[in-house]
Amino acid sequence: MNQTVSLRRCFREPIPEIFDAARYLDAAVSAHLNGKNNLANELFLLANDPKIWEWTDSVWGKRGFYVTVNKLPNKLVTEKVPSRMPTTKQKYELHKRDGYHCRYCGIPVIRADIRKKLKKLYPESVVWEKTNASQHAAFQCMWAQYDHVVPHSYGGTNELENLVVSCAACNFGKMEYSLEELGLIDPRNFPIVQSLWDGLERLNS
Ligand SMILES: [Zn+2]
Repeated sequence: MNQTVSLRRCFREPIPEIFDAARYLDAAVSAHLNGKNNLANELFLLANDPKIWEWTDSVWGKRGFYVTVNKLPNKLVTEKVPSRMPTTKQKYELHKRDGYHCRYCGIPVIRADIRKKLKKLYPESVVWEKTNASQHAAFQCMWAQYDHVVPHSYGGTNELENLVVSCAACNFGKMEYSLEELGLIDPRNFPIVQSLWDGLERLNS
């Protein structure tokens, strides 16, 4: 029997506003490095678009319309390794391999360390508090995560081969479900996005 299952690369296609915001953030960092702090501030404000917040929330939020789970009855896991966050060295290796784009939906990502540095420099425009709603929409959406492609509950390891750089929405939207249960295609089957986006890392150079 030939069953047609529609598989997807990500839960929801990214909206153009995300890429617009990435351009604003990129320009903001350039402005900052050129000593144009007022301009940088304005650009950080422009990137904080509520439409982006809505996109992220629609994927990782509780009433997510875009995440559908077809729970499988049997988990054939014989050995489960303890869940572990990647080390600093592993994160470095992952960015060296994957660059600064989500391996699922392809949007640009930014490491939390870069965001924290910018928040200190621009506390009025790079806002980031505890609640989701009080976080800068673009930095939240583009918050770099290190996703276990095969989750621990399915025997996934902490090795680099099982980890990919991802955005916050794709990572948190997956929860502990398998790709099969979520109807997602293994992101490792696709080439890595090549672009000039540097994750704003030049702030550190
Ligand atoms: Zn993503």
